[in-house]
This record gives sequence, structure tokens and C-alpha cells, in this order.
Amino acid sequence: MQDPPTSGECPFARYYRGEMRLASVALFVFVATNYAIAPLYRAWFLGTPATAPQAIWLIEYGVILTTALAAAFVRWRWSEREIATPFTLAAVAVISASIIGDRYVWTQAGVPFFNELIGYFLISAMVMTGIEYRRLCWIVAPALCADSVLSYVLHGWGPVANFELLSNLTAAYIAVFTGWFFEKNMRQVWAKASSLELLAHQDALTNLLNRRGLSERAENTLKQAVRDKKPVAVAMLDLDHFKGYNDLYGHPAGDAALRAVALVLAEHARRPLDLVARTGGEEFVILWFATGADGLERRVQRLVDAIRNLEIPHASGNPSGHLTISLGAVTATAEATLGINYLVEQADLLLYEAKQKGRDQAVIRTLPAPQSREQLSST
Ligand code: GH3
Ligand code: MG
Ligand code: MG
Repeated sequence: MQDPPTSGECPFARYYRGEMRLASVALFVFVATNYAIAPLYRAWFLGTPATAPQAIWLIEYGVILTTALAAAFVRWRWSEREIATPFTLAAVAVISASIIGDRYVWTQAGVPFFNELIGYFLISAMVMTGIEYRRLCWIVAPALCADSVLSYVLHGWGPVANFELLSNLTAAYIAVFTGWFFEKNMRQVWAKASSLELLAHQDALTNLLNRRGLSERAENTLKQAVRDKKPVAVAMLDLDHFKGYNDLYGHPAGDAALRAVALVLAEHARRPLDLVARTGGEEFVILWFATGADGLERRVQRLVDAIRNLEIPHASGNPSGHLTISLGAVTATAEATLGINYLVEQADLLLYEAKQKGRDQAVIRTLPAPQSREQLSST
């Protein structure tokens, strides 16, 4: 009932990727910059020939530079989207394979090229991309294995290749351990943040949304209704003679009655974009997605009947002898101009009417098209 529309992806993965957006952009920009300026510093800083074999241009400019720039762009623009994860993984894999290829070509050309670069890159990928470490392990492990195999191909059995193997094992250890540790900490931060958010949006007595939760979630539902061109309905309801109920049965019994009512309300708004909130002491609001006049009439009648049929005894002022509700509800096409506050205000006016008419009943109305809203409020 109160879950936001799911994207089919773990909310943590999205959070982690989003939090690490700047870091991942920084990583890919660093890689791109490094390869962009490599020809400038190669001769005087590294002592390698300024003119590289042709394959190097293809690998460093054609593949690494463009992949890193594309990944930086994707993470900058679309870190929130699911596509960012496979794209980042692919970029890390392509850049890793290219660094290994680069090393092969340089070494074949007689220029010494040590293998630390691949290790540094993979460790950075583990802690800077905000992708879960289990997924990255599928790239880190094969890349470091491939690099070690290359060492033996290039240098044969001996101290050089052996040292490179040790260096790759160390890189694997640092990458996996820091990746795991970093993600674990981020999970804890995320869990705390989400439970705080839940507390801030939930009503403690009934576990329904509170007023703030309603305002925030309703935006989602209303936006979706505008996109789908569906109507929405909002009901505001209030327990009848509830002060008398508390006076007669005591406050704890009053609380129990509120919880019983809340359960019934939740059962009557079960679709993913429907919302139920306790907005005041004994006042509730329901937002139904894709509910027009016909559906609304049936729904509210069923709801009023269901509360009466709970048969919670109420011998103070209620003619039926049971606890009842009064309800005002509106339905409208969900244009962007109709905010939740406006819909609740309109429902509240009808709730007042239902009370005036004798309680234990619903009054509903279809709101006019939103373009006439200004006329509506001026009348
Ligand atoms: P009406 O039919 O006109 O709504 O009459 P009423 O007595 O229900 O209306 P009123 O707004 O005067 O009273 C609301 C009562 O709701 C006052 C208070 O005793 C009770 N109430 C509000 N919040 C809570 C709560 O959290 N727990 C309990 N047990 N009672 C509450
Ligand atoms: Mg009230
Ligand atoms: Mg009341």
C-alpha cells in the first residue's frame, strides 16, 4: 500500500550509486586525463619514447579515453538510473582489459611497463564507483588473473613475473577488502537514514503514513496519474462522536479503536500507488489512484459499512450503538494544478457536510476540470 513504485532494483544499490556519483565521475575523469596527457609527459617523465606504436594510440585514445569519458558522462547525468550499473561495470571491464593490452604492446615494443597500474585502477573501481563489491569482484578477479598470466607470457618463470603475481595478489586483497568494508559501512549509513525517514513519515499509533508522509508520497501518485491520464480520489474521514467514546471507554480503548479503524482503511486502499494516512487525532485521509466517480461511490460506501460492521460498541451519542465514521470524498482528473492539499481541503468541506447530515455516511463530489480551478476558488 505505502511502498513507492519499485524499479525492480534494490533501493540500496540506487542509493550507493547515487552517493558515489561524484567519486565515480572523478575516477573516470582522472583516467581520461591521464591518458589524454600521457604523450606529453611520456618522454621526459617516464623515459619512454614519445612516439608510441600505432596500437597504443588505438588502445589509449580509441578505447580507454573514450570509455572513461563516456562513463564519466553517464555517471554525471544518470547515476540515479539503473542503466548506470551495467554501464559502469562494462567501463571498468573495458578499461581493465585495455590497460592489460597496453602493457602487452609496450612490453613487446621493448619498453618496460610494470603492472601496478591495473591494480591501482581496480582498487579505485572498488571504492569509488559505488557499485556493489560482489559485482565488481567478477571483473577484478579475472583482470588480475589475466594480468598475472601475461606477466609469465612476457617474462617467463622468474623473479619479475613472480613479483608481479605478488603485486596482483596484494591488489586483489586490498580491492576486495576495502570494497567489502566500504560497502558494509555505506549499508549501515543507508539503513539508519532509511529508518529515520520511515519514522519521520509514519504515524506511531497506527503505522499508517502521517501528514508529512502523505504530502511527500502523494506527489508521486499524482504525478503518475497525470502521466497515465487517470483520475484520483481523495477521502477525508473522521470518527463520529469520538470524544464521547474516549470519555466513556477510556483513552486506551480509544487508541485500540483507532488502530482497528486504521487496519480496515488499509485494506480498502491496497494498490501500489494508493495511500492511507492518519492526519489528525481521529482523522484519516485516503488517496486512491485511478478512481473515478463510479468507483469512488462504491468504495466509500463499502468503507463506511465496513467500519460500522466492525461493531465496536459505542453507546455515547451514536444512534447505531456502534462506532461509525463520516466521510467526504472528491474525485478529479489529476492535472498538475491539483495538489494533495487542495484535494484534502475539498474533501474536508464534504466531510463537514456529512457530519451535518447526521454522520455515519459519505458525501462525494466530482471536481470540475482543473482549468476552472481559479473560478472555483473565487466563487
Ligand atoms: P464528531 O462526530 O463531530 O467528529 O465528534 P467528535 O467527538 O469525534 O469530534 P471532536 O473533534 O470534538 O473530538 C475528537 C476527539 O478525538 C477528541 C479526542 O478525545 C479524540 N482523540 C484525538 N486523538 C486521539 C488519540 O490519539 N487517541 C484517542 N484515544 N483519542 C483521540
Ligand atoms: Mg475530528
Ligand atoms: Mg470526530
